[in-house]
Amino acid sequence: MQQHGDQYIGGEWVPSLGTDTIPVLNPATEEVIASVPAGTAEDVDAAVRAARAAARGWGATTPAERLLPLTRLRDGLAARQQEIAATVVAELGSPIGFATNVQAALPLGVAGSYLDILAGYEFTEQVGNSTVYAEPAGVVAAITPWNYPLHQVVAKVVPALAAGCTVVLKPAEDTPLVARLFAQIMHEAGFPAGVFNLVTGVGTVAGAALAGHPGIDLVSFTGSTAVGAKIAEIAGGGIKRVALELGGKSANVVLPGADLARAVNVNVGNVFANSGQTCTAWTRLLVHQDQYEEAVAIAAKAAAKYVPGDPTSPETRLGPVVNAKQRDRVRGYIETAVAEGARVVAGGPEAPEGLETGFYIRPTVLADVTPDATVAQEEIFGPVLSILSYRDEAHALEIANGTSYGLAGGVWAADNETAAAFARGMDTGQIDINGGRFNPLAPFGGYKQSGVGRELGRHGLEEFLQPKSLQF
Ligand code: NAD
Repeated sequence: MQQHGDQYIGGEWVPSLGTDTIPVLNPATEEVIASVPAGTAEDVDAAVRAARAAARGWGATTPAERLLPLTRLRDGLAARQQEIAATVVAELGSPIGFATNVQAALPLGVAGSYLDILAGYEFTEQVGNSTVYAEPAGVVAAITPWNYPLHQVVAKVVPALAAGCTVVLKPAEDTPLVARLFAQIMHEAGFPAGVFNLVTGVGTVAGAALAGHPGIDLVSFTGSTAVGAKIAEIAGGGIKRVALELGGKSANVVLPGADLARAVNVNVGNVFANSGQTCTAWTRLLVHQDQYEEAVAIAAKAAAKYVPGDPTSPETRLGPVVNAKQRDRVRGYIETAVAEGARVVAGGPEAPEGLETGFYIRPTVLADVTPDATVAQEEIFGPVLSILSYRDEAHALEIANGTSYGLAGGVWAADNETAAAFARGMDTGQIDINGGRFNPLAPFGGYKQSGVGRELGRHGLEEFLQPKSLQF
C-alpha cells in the first residue's frame, strides 16, 4: 500500500500540514490500496499563495511561451497512458478497455484541441477606437469529481493555463491517485513553480476552504448539483466567478422513422459505459408508444451482453461502481422504481451472482417508467436505463424537457433535419443527432440546473479570460 503524505505546492512535493488521511479503495476488491493527505485549510492557503505569486509572471507570457510546456504535458500524458489507465482501474473500477480507450485517451484529445485553439486564438481585438485584450481571469480553483478523474482535471487545468491563469486543483476523495500522477507529469513538463498546485482533501474541508479563499478569482467546479449550489454560495460571497458543470437526466428521443434498433443499442452502450457514472448518460430513452414493446425487447437483449466482472480483465464491459455508498444509492433507486410501478426487464436491485466482494450492480433496464417517477427525475449515476413512451412529438418534447436538468441528450429520426429541428426545442446544452460523434471543440455544459458556463473548445478557453479595453 502506498502511503502518500505530501501535496504538490509551489513546484515541489511538500508535507501536508495536517495529519488526517484519506484511504483510497479499490472498488472491485474493497481493499485499501493507498492513502493520501486530507488537506487542511492551511494546505489550501499555501497552495493559493503559491498560485497567486506565480500569477503575474505566467499571465504575462505569450501564447507561444505557454504552448511549450502545455505540449510537453500532452506528450507526457500520452507517454504514461498505460499507467494512467491502470490507476483509473485501481481507484475507480473502470474496465481496463474503457480506462485505456476513454479515461486515458479522452484527455489527450482534449489537451490536443486546446493546443490548436491556443495557437490560433486572437488575444487582442480592435473595436472602433478601443483595443480589447483578453486577459487571464487570475487564480483558479479547480474542484473535480471522480467519474472521469483525469478528463475532468484536464478539461479545467489545460484551458486555465492556456488562458494564462494559475491553478489550485482539489480532486475528488475517491480518485486522488490519477490526480497525483497528473501533478508528476505537470512537474516533468516544466511549468514555472506555483503555476499548478494540487491539494488532496475532503470536499467540506479542503474544497470549501479553496472555494472561499480570498486569493481565488474563479471557481471551476464539476460535481453534483447540490454541492454546486454550495460552491456558488461560497464563491458569491467573495464576488468570484464560477463555472459549474453539474448533474444530468438526459433524454434520448427516438422519433418514428429512425433506425430503432441502432438507437436503442447505442443508448444501452451509452448508459452502461463507466457503470453509468457519466453525467451525460442518456438515462431516459423516449420511444413512440407504437414501437414501445419492440424497443424494450431490444434493450433487454442488449443489456444481457453487459455482465459485471473484474475490471482488470480485457473482456469485462461493466465494472463496479465507485464505492459502497454509491452502490447502495443505485440499488435504492431500482427498488424505488419498482415500488412506483416500473417493470424490471433486465437486472434488478439484487447483488450480481458470484460477486459478493466489490461494489457491483446488475445492469438494469426499467420499462413502464412514467415521466414523474423518481428514476425519471433524479440522477442515479449507475447502470440503470428507464424507458418511457410518448404519444406524439409535442408529448416527447414535454417529457424531454420535464426535469430540472438540461445537460445532454440524443435525437434519432429518419433524417438529420427532422432530428435537429426537434433538438432545437430541447432545453439542453449538447445533443447528438442520429448518433453524432463526440467533438472536443464543441462547447459542453448545461441548461437549467445542469450548470453555468461551458467547457471545451473556444468557449472553454474563454471561461478563463476577462476582457480589458483601452480607448484611444
Ligand atoms: P460531489 O459534488 O460530491 O463532489 C465533487 C467535488 O466537490 C469533489 O472534489 C468533492 O470533494 C468536492 N466537494 C464536496 N463538497 C464540497 C463543498 N462543500 N465545498 C467544496 N467542495 C466540495 O460529486 P461527485 O459525487 O464527486 O460526482 C458525481 C456528480 O458529478 C454527479 O452528480 C455528476 O452528474 C456530476 N458530474 C457532472 C459533470 C459535468 O460535466 N456536468 C461531469 C462529471 C460529473
